[in-house]
Amino acid sequence: MTRVAIVGGGAAGLLAGIAAAWGGAQVTIYEKMRVPGKKMLITGKGRCNITNACEIPDFIKNLPGNGRFLNSALHRFTNDDIVLLLESNGLPTKVERGGRIFPVSDKAKDVVDTLVRIYTEAGGKLQTDTKVIDIMVKEGHVYGVRTVNGVYEADRVILAAGGASYPGTGSDGGGAKLAKKLGHTIVPLKPSLIPLESDYPYVDDLQGLSLRNVQATLLADGVKLGSEFGEMLFTHFGVSGPIVLSLSNLAADALAAGKDVELEVDLKPALSEEKLDARIQRDFVQYSRKQVLNGMKDLLPQRLIPVVLDMSYVDENKFINQVSREERHRLLQTLKHFVITISATRPIAEAIVTAGGVSVKEIDPKTMESKRIKGLYFAGEVMDIDGYTGGYNLQAAFSSGHAAGEAAAAEE
Ligand SMILES: Cc1cc2nc3c(=O)[nH]c(=O)nc-3n(C[C@H](O)[C@H](O)[C@H](O)COP(=O)(O)OP(=O)(O)OC[C@H]3O[C@@H](n4cnc5c(N)ncnc54)[C@H](O)[C@@H]3O)c2cc1C
Repeated sequence: MTRVAIVGGGAAGLLAGIAAAWGGAQVTIYEKMRVPGKKMLITGKGRCNITNACEIPDFIKNLPGNGRFLNSALHRFTNDDIVLLLESNGLPTKVERGGRIFPVSDKAKDVVDTLVRIYTEAGGKLQTDTKVIDIMVKEGHVYGVRTVNGVYEADRVILAAGGASYPGTGSDGGGAKLAKKLGHTIVPLKPSLIPLESDYPYVDDLQGLSLRNVQATLLADGVKLGSEFGEMLFTHFGVSGPIVLSLSNLAADALAAGKDVELEVDLKPALSEEKLDARIQRDFVQYSRKQVLNGMKDLLPQRLIPVVLDMSYVDENKFINQVSREERHRLLQTLKHFVITISATRPIAEAIVTAGGVSVKEIDPKTMESKRIKGLYFAGEVMDIDGYTGGYNLQAAFSSGHAAGEAAAAEE
């Protein structure tokens, strides 16, 4: 029997374990934490956005960090396959907005428990509280793992130790270090899908406010880099929320290049400037005897009104019938171009995903085997692969894990 050792019991490690055990191998997952799948437990705000209902080419588009490398793996273990695996083992799923797939129970723990059960029922062994400190290699071929609890021999080793974000879940960048020791090239780790910090003067006034249906455009030295429509959130340090996370990679690169980065938010993207002007004028007729601070509540969330007025140099105590055409024009411009300066990204520990990792140029895309060391395989976020929110990152972990497990179990 082929002995397969898997480093890490997260999304990729569990799928690798299931595929290897089904392939007839004797499999052990070594997980450094007390329980497996700790990061999966916090995915999708504790609900686990397992995958997406889109077509495979759309997965590749939504994995801007080397999604094409996963073409074969994504076709061989698809979104339908992970859904079928969970459903046939008693965990129904549902599709939500944007094709996002969740368990019907809305509990990430059910996903982890189901995968662990499938793995152990397939004959896989799980050794928790067991950190792997070395992958042992002789004459270009792996022969086992050295752990804090001793040395275990194996014919194949799958490194599925995750990225470097949320280190409290166990993935702390150690996987890339293990690969580096073996001579693999590591593309520098950096945060992806990361909230952005701002030194904008209104951060304290707006923290906790979320905006829906806005269009945010990222600018570097005044040049447009990207634009996203949807929801964003003001926090105590700056901005977060889905559209900010999606633009964050572009922001990180521009900040690293020393550029001035700004997020320009169109608060009323459904209305052209002319239509918005007409709408403001209508509201101003209706509320003409109110102070401007109290006369814009149909247009904006209450907490945003004093900020918009201040940014437009309009005195909030002024009565609406005294607002000049010039002032109304400035208000209109602020509503269409609400600019937030971006000073930094949050640290990598707070990233949803780690960009960078083991260079995919040194990995066979069909088997996930190292091109440098025989018998060594990679799966999941430890590789230089990253995607957007929407279930794409977990599917990348599941598909690459499955490919690695299947190949590692196969006879030479
Ligand atoms: C807050 C948050 C929410 C997210 N939500 C979603 C979502 O809803 N949908 C989605 O698709 N993606 C989501 N992601 C991303 C997704 O969780 C990851 O991309 C995915 O978990 C990567 O799987 P992995 O198995 O490669 O790594 P991990 O899931 O990080 O697993 C790696 C495992 O390896 C173990 N390990 C590390 N080093 C060692 C060692 N030396 N020895 C032994 N064990 C080791 C770790 O303890 C860990 O259990 C989210 C991420 C975060 C942080």
